[in-house]
Amino acid sequence: MAPILEINNLYKNYGSVEILKDINVAIEQGDFLVLVGPSGCGKSTLLNCIAGLEPITKGSMAIGGQDMTNVSPKDRDIAMVFQSYALYPTMTVAKNITFGMKVRGIDPAIQEEKLTYVAQQLQIEPLLKRKPGQLSGGQRQRVAMGRALVRDPKLFLFDEPLSNLDAKLRVEMRTEIKALHQRLGASMVYVTHDQIEAMTLATKIVVMKAGVIQQIGTPAEIYNRPANLFVADFMGSPAMNLIPAKTKANGNGMQIEIARKDGDPIMLTDTRNQDLPENVIIGVRPEDIADASSVRSGDTQEADCLIDIVEPAGADTFAVMQLGGKHVTARLHSETTAAAGAAQRLAFDLGKVSYFEPETGLRLN
Ligand code: ADP
Ligand code: MG
Repeated sequence: MAPILEINNLYKNYGSVEILKDINVAIEQGDFLVLVGPSGCGKSTLLNCIAGLEPITKGSMAIGGQDMTNVSPKDRDIAMVFQSYALYPTMTVAKNITFGMKVRGIDPAIQEEKLTYVAQQLQIEPLLKRKPGQLSGGQRQRVAMGRALVRDPKLFLFDEPLSNLDAKLRVEMRTEIKALHQRLGASMVYVTHDQIEAMTLATKIVVMKAGVIQQIGTPAEIYNRPANLFVADFMGSPAMNLIPAKTKANGNGMQIEIARKDGDPIMLTDTRNQDLPENVIIGVRPEDIADASSVRSGDTQEADCLIDIVEPAGADTFAVMQLGGKHVTARLHSETTAAAGAAQRLAFDLGKVSYFEPETGLRLN
C-alpha cells in the first residue's frame, strides 16, 4: 500500500529566506507522526504545506498515493485542528460540528448520525446545545476536534492543539487524543514544541531544527539513540548529560576518562565500543546513573562522585555533580543516601551511553 503521506525533497522559502530544507518524510496508514522542535523551527510551516495552505517552493507531496503538490486544501481529504480553536461563537456546539457537512450538502440524516458518533467519542453529548462562550478551554478543544472528526479524512493535522490549556488538562487531553487515535486507527500529523507530548503520543517522531530534519524515528529510537547532540539535548527531561571525555583503547575496549572538579579523573571501561576518537562527548541519561548500592546487574562501572546538590522530586531524587566541567544529573531512588557536599558511589550504565563527535555533534556509536 502507498504511504498515507509522502513528502519528497520539500523546500519552502519566504522571499529569499529558506524556511524548510530538503524535507523527506513518509508515514503509513494509522501512524501518529509528531513534528517536534523549538519555536520557529518550521513545524507549522511544514504542516501548512501538507494542508495546502502554503505553496511549496520545491519538491513534491502525495497523500494516499495521489500527488497533492498543487491540489487545493479542500481537495486534499484532510482535517486540521489549530491551537486557536476558531469556533463560530454564535452557533451551538452541534452546529459548529455539523457546519462543514452542511456546507458540503451532506444528507441531514447522515449529519445527525456523525454528530452523535463524534459527540459520543469525545464525551461532549451534554454540551451540544451550548455556545462556545459557555465552554471551558478543554471543552472548546474537544469541539474543535469534533469538527475534524466528522470529516473522516485520510489525514488529521494538529497544530499545537493543547498549548492553550493548563498543565493538568493538557495531560488529560493528551491521554484522550492517544486513546482516540487507538480507537479510530486514523493517520495523524501533530505539531508540538513539547518533547514529552511528542514522546507520549507519537508512533513516529520527526525532530526539527532551523528548518532541517535532525532525526526521524520511533520514540524509543530517538530517546535511546539520538542522532546528534541537538536531539540528545532536546528530547528527555531532565536532559541527557553530555560530558566531554577522553578515550583510549585499553585491551578490554575503550577507557573513558572524565575530568573531575577535584581529584583524579574518573576512569570507566566501555567493552562494547571500539575505535572511538580521542575526544568525545559521552551522553548519559540521568536514569543510567544510579546508586552503586542499588544496582543489581548490567554493564555498569562505578565511581565516587562529589554531590553538589540533592533535589528530591517525589518518586525520584536528582543528584547534581560536576563532571567534565558540566553539571551532571543522576536520577536516584528517593531513598538514596546521597547528600550535598558528600561523595557518593555511583554506577554508570555503559551499556546505554551514546558518544558524539564534539565538532560535528554527530553520533559515533
Ligand atoms: P514553528 O511552528 O516551528 O514555531 P513556523 O513554521 O511558524 O515555526 O515558522 C518558521 C519560520 O518561518 C520562522 O522563522 C518564522 O518567522 C518564519 N515565517 C513563518 N511564517 C512566515 C511568513 N508568512 N512570512 C515570512 N516568514 C514566516
Ligand atoms: Mg507553530
